[in-house]
Amino acid sequence: MAGRIPQNFIDDLITRCDIVEVINARVPLKRKGKEFTACCPFHNEKTPSFTVSENKQFYYCFGCHAKGNAIGFLMDYEHLSYIDAIESLAADQHLDVPHENDGFVNKDREDKQPLYNILTQASELFQSALKDSERAINYLKQRGLSGEIAKQFKIGYAPDGWDFLIKRIGSTKENLDALSKTGLIVNKENNKTYDRFRDRIIFPITDQRGRIIGFGGRILDQGEPKYLNSPENAVFHKGYELYGLYETKMALRKIDRILVVEGYMDVVALAQNGINYAVASLGTATTTDQIQKTFRTTHEIIFCYDGDNAGKKAAWRALENTLSVIRDGMVAKFLFLPEKEDPDTMVRKEGKEAFEQRIINATTLSEFLFGNLKTESDISTNEGKAQLANKANKLIQKMHNSIFKDLLIEELSSLVGLSQQHLESKIDSKPETKRNVVQESKPIRGQQVSNNKTRIAIALLIQNPTLASEQKVPEGFKAAFTKGLPLLHTLQLTIESNPEISSAALLERFRDTEHEKAFNKLAMLQTPETENTENITAVYIDLIKRLHIEDRDEYLNYKINNNEPLTAEEQQEYLKTPNK
Ligand SMILES: [Zn+2]
Repeated sequence: MAGRIPQNFIDDLITRCDIVEVINARVPLKRKGKEFTACCPFHNEKTPSFTVSENKQFYYCFGCHAKGNAIGFLMDYEHLSYIDAIESLAADQHLDVPHENDGFVNKDREDKQPLYNILTQASELFQSALKDSERAINYLKQRGLSGEIAKQFKIGYAPDGWDFLIKRIGSTKENLDALSKTGLIVNKENNKTYDRFRDRIIFPITDQRGRIIGFGGRILDQGEPKYLNSPENAVFHKGYELYGLYETKMALRKIDRILVVEGYMDVVALAQNGINYAVASLGTATTTDQIQKTFRTTHEIIFCYDGDNAGKKAAWRALENTLSVIRDGMVAKFLFLPEKEDPDTMVRKEGKEAFEQRIINATTLSEFLFGNLKTESDISTNEGKAQLANKANKLIQKMHNSIFKDLLIEELSSLVGLSQQHLESKIDSKPETKRNVVQESKPIRGQQVSNNKTRIAIALLIQNPTLASEQKVPEGFKAAFTKGLPLLHTLQLTIESNPEISSAALLERFRDTEHEKAFNKLAMLQTPETENTENITAVYIDLIKRLHIEDRDEYLNYKINNNEPLTAEEQQEYLKTPNK
C-alpha cells in the first residue's frame, strides 16, 4: 500500500488551490462583499446561507453549520475519502501526490495505469459477451434483473473456455503482464496461462473514482466456488473496497443511510427493487477501513445479515469494528433476516416497502451489544454481572470519547448495578489519534476555567497564523491552569514547524482530532477583535499577555485556597497580584 502523504505536501496543496474555484466549479457562487455565497448544497434552502471566504479559504453554512476547507468540501460534496479528495485537488493542480517511504511515486503511478487499462478492456469484453449469451441473459432475467440494471452495474459474462481474454487482449507482452498482475489470467508452470473467470456472471468492482479494480464472478448453476474474486493486487485491496459504493454515490446526491450486505447479487437485486443504497463487503467480515469509508459517505449504516449463527457472528465482528470508529452523530444498526433468506431473495419476495420497514425496525447497536452479552452471562448472579461488565468494558474501551460512549456506560451501570464512576475508572479512554500534533499536556490541578479571551486568542491565531511569529505563546501555557491555553501552545508549535502555513492548512492538521470541530468553528468566529484587521497584531499581543497574567492569578489563588505552600518566587508574584 502507498505510504503516508507528507504533511507539507498537503499544506502546500491547500495553499495553492483556491477554495472559491473548487466550490464554484460544483456549486455556482455569487460574490457578496468580501465573501461568496450560494444556496447550501448540504441542506434545502431558498435563500443562500452557504458562505465561502476567499481570505480564510474556508466555507461555512449558517443554516446547517456545514464547514471546512477545500479537502473537507470535496469529501462531503463528492463523498470522497480523505486520500481521494487530496488526489482530486492535486490532479486539478497537475501535481502528483507523493507518499512517504515511497521514492518512486511517478513510477508507481505509471505501473498502475496498464492495470486499470486492462481491467477496463476486460470489463467491456465481458459486457459484450453477456449480450451474446442467451443462457447468461436468461439467468439474470430469472433473478429479476433488467437490462438497465445490468448496464448500470456493468454486469458481464465470462464465457466458458480457457482463453477468452488471452485471445482477445493477450497478444502483446505488456498486456499479458497486466492480465497476470490483475489476476485475470492464472500462470501455470511451463509458461502456460489460462483465464481465471470461466462461465461466470461478472460483477466489476470499482474504486471511489469509478475505476474498475477487480471482478467478482458468480457461477450460473451449481458448483464451487459459488463466488470467485479477483486476487489482491496493486490496485485492488479487498479489505478496503466496498462493492456498490461508487454506484450508490452516483445514484444519490444525499445518502441518508447505507445498507451493508454480503453479496454482489444482494446489492444488485436491492437496486433493482428501488433500494439503491446497498453495498457489499468483499469478504466475510466488514473491516474497520470499510466502516470508516462508509461513515464518510453517510451517517447511518445498517448491517444486514442472515439470522443464523454465521450471520450473528459476522454481525458481532462488524459491531466490534464499528465501536472503534463510531463518533457522535453516527448511527449503526443491525438487521437480521429470517434463516435461509438473503436480501436478494427477501426483497424479491416482499418488495421495497416491506424490506424498508425491516430496515426501519433494525436493532440498534446498544440493543445488539447488551442483548448478546446478556445471553452469554447470567446476570441474576454477581459472578454473571462481573463477567458481563468485564466483557462490555473491553468493548467500550475501544471507543472514542463521545456522548454515545457515556450512554453505553450509563446503560451498563444500570444493568450490573455498579456506579458509572466505578465503571469509568476501569475504562481507560482511547487516546485520540493525532497527525503531527504535539501531545498537549492537560492542566492537572483543580477546576478548569473556561475563558472567552482564550477562544478569541485561538480564533485570532487560526485566522492569522503569522501572529505566531509576532508574539510567541509562553512556554508555560503548555501545562497551564486555564482551559484552552495548552491548545494555544499546540497551535504555536504547529505553526512554528511550518511558518508559512495558511489557516486552511493549519485546520487540516487537526482533522480527525478532538479539536477539529472547535477549531473549524473558531476559524469562522467574528468578533470585534477578529474584525479589527488594522490592529490585529497589537490586539493579539495584548490578549496573550492578559491571559498569561490571569492564568498565574488563577493558579496562585487556587494554591492559596487549597492551603498549598507557595514557593518564594510565587509569594513575590502573589504580592503583586492586583485582585487577590
Ligand atoms: Zn447548509
